[in-house]
Amino acid sequence: MRARSLGIVFVAAVIVPSILLAVLSIRAAGREEAFVEKQLATTLLAEVTHVADLAAAEAAQVAEELRAGLDVPAGGGYEKAFAQWKQGQPLVEVPFLISPRLGVLSPRASADLGPEERLFIQENGDFLSNLTPTSVFENIAVKYKDQILAEAPKGEDDSTKDSSALRRPAEAEQKKSADRAAIDAFAQSEAIQAKVYEQAREKGDVLNRRVVTPGGASAAAPEEPAVLPARQAAPADTMQEAEASAGGAAPADAAPPAAGAATNAAPLKPSQQQQSQFVVTSQLLSQIAAQGEYGIIPRFVDSRLTFLFWEKQADGRIAGCGISERVFRGRIAAVLPATYTPARLLTILDETGAPVVVPPGSEGRDWRRPFVSREVGESLPRWEVAASLTSPEAVAARARASTLTLWVLVVILFISVAGGGTMVLSSVYAEVRLAQKKATFVANVSHELKTPLTSISLFVEMLRQKRQTDPAKQEQYFSLMSSETERLTRLINNVLSFSSLEKGKKVYAKKTVDMGSVVRETVESQRVGLESRGFSVSLRAPAQTPEGTPAPALVEADPEALKQVLLNLLSNAEKYSGAVKEIEVEIAREPGAVVVHVRDRGIGVAEKNRQRIFREFYRVDDSLTSRVQGTGLGLTIARRIARDHGGEVSHRPREGGGSDFVLSLPEAKR
Ligand code: ADP
Repeated sequence: MRARSLGIVFVAAVIVPSILLAVLSIRAAGREEAFVEKQLATTLLAEVTHVADLAAAEAAQVAEELRAGLDVPAGGGYEKAFAQWKQGQPLVEVPFLISPRLGVLSPRASADLGPEERLFIQENGDFLSNLTPTSVFENIAVKYKDQILAEAPKGEDDSTKDSSALRRPAEAEQKKSADRAAIDAFAQSEAIQAKVYEQAREKGDVLNRRVVTPGGASAAAPEEPAVLPARQAAPADTMQEAEASAGGAAPADAAPPAAGAATNAAPLKPSQQQQSQFVVTSQLLSQIAAQGEYGIIPRFVDSRLTFLFWEKQADGRIAGCGISERVFRGRIAAVLPATYTPARLLTILDETGAPVVVPPGSEGRDWRRPFVSREVGESLPRWEVAASLTSPEAVAARARASTLTLWVLVVILFISVAGGGTMVLSSVYAEVRLAQKKATFVANVSHELKTPLTSISLFVEMLRQKRQTDPAKQEQYFSLMSSETERLTRLINNVLSFSSLEKGKKVYAKKTVDMGSVVRETVESQRVGLESRGFSVSLRAPAQTPEGTPAPALVEADPEALKQVLLNLLSNAEKYSGAVKEIEVEIAREPGAVVVHVRDRGIGVAEKNRQRIFREFYRVDDSLTSRVQGTGLGLTIARRIARDHGGEVSHRPREGGGSDFVLSLPEAKR
């Protein structure tokens, strides 16, 4: 019963938690790979976002520098100022000056124009003359944040009017941080991003109405909202289509082709959308200029991104320049930190998806599917900072290694918990069993002490009262009293020996003795008693010496201890006897050993109990033995004494029934 409740406690406290722990750990191990990738993606996204911010800041810095170097005098004489500007600022490629009344003042289409200027006029002439609009990219999240954040108080927030045109530094900074905060808020919620996208895509008309037109123009103005999906999802020419339709159509007729293009684009997964959704509106230069004082206008020309710098002058003219693409790209590329680390490759991808800097060792790499990417922003549409894993296999291998480590740990943990638990349980179980045995032992000893004492006091009483006058009977009483006293002595000796053996304090008075004599003495001392109780006792000694005396079988031993062993064996032969009351003691010689057999024709010992009977307090629990009194100490003591003398006591089944207890001791050297 006790053992069963111990088992239940073990299962509840050790096995069940171990299994749960193992299951949880194994499940965690399964997710390890995804976890490692996600961790890496988070780290790289932070880096990529930082670089995107740096690139956007660099574009703003370029505008500041260009503005600082530009000083157009009122009236005439701008040529000299332009020449100086161009000389001192490598970003300046083709300076231009526009009068609101007279149109493009410089460069004027004339025969002495250089090829650069000719190309510039060809590409930008109509736009600078305010004849055709250009596409202005606005971040959808920033633009519609009021409509989307339902809880946020709605109101006039002119950050919605923000465009790619940069404003005066302080104001621009303010706007930029407001926009950045809004973008961040949106970027954090993919659900909101998806909603923005869906609204913009499906309710084109709502978008039309909601577009806050620059300079307060109405919804019917040349705005042509189009939602441009990320590069990965949009066909390469979506942007060009938008550009072409914006540039080609008359402003008032501007119709949905670009929006159509976006509608036809493959639906995006929310995670791909991120910030890369721009609303593209077509705006004339005059409209852009109405929103600020200076800025950079990114323009797609033949699917190539070009950049125009402009600044409003005090007299209302607009001065500016076509920016040197090479120098500008170089400036943006310079913001990149180390493009190669053993973990990742980092670069900025331009509008065509080509890296502006090829990280070492990544020549020919396909950058269409980077590990993480972030768009730079409105000032560099379709440019993005991208990071790829230097060695994706290494990441997978690392994840596999950590999964393996986890598995090994789980197995070790499980083995140690289960193994440790089992050991604790078995030792607790053994302790419980021992305690039970000790309790039984105390009961047995009390009983064994009481029985002989009762019969002795009974005989003493009878003899004292002289109730028995028959001398033969009296003699029998005396002999019974003597054997009961012997039994008591043997029991007390066993208990005392056990206690001193337990404490390791048993002291032996060893000397060279003839085993034959010790055995003969012991057997003879018991013979009368045994025979009186119906036993026949035979003693066989080894070969005789020529003189006819038994050859001495010398051993190095404490004769008293040897006698105790023999008495215990003889007593057992008597106690566990059957109908045939025969006890046979034999002294034999084996090479280097003296052996004593104590044989009986008793109940014998079953195979499974042959080792157990030597354990302390162990008593065979069956109907045959349970009627015999005992403490379970006799054989334990016999074996310990034998072992303390370098020998052994063992049991062998006897042919024809019964037991053969064998005491063997090393022969003493003469
Ligand atoms: P005790 O005799 O006091 O019970 P022992 O240590 O002497 O203790 O014996 C242990 C057990 O071994 C006994 O309970 C008995 O079952 C078994 N045993 C010992 N001697 C014999 C024997 N000669 N024949 C059969 N069984 C024996």
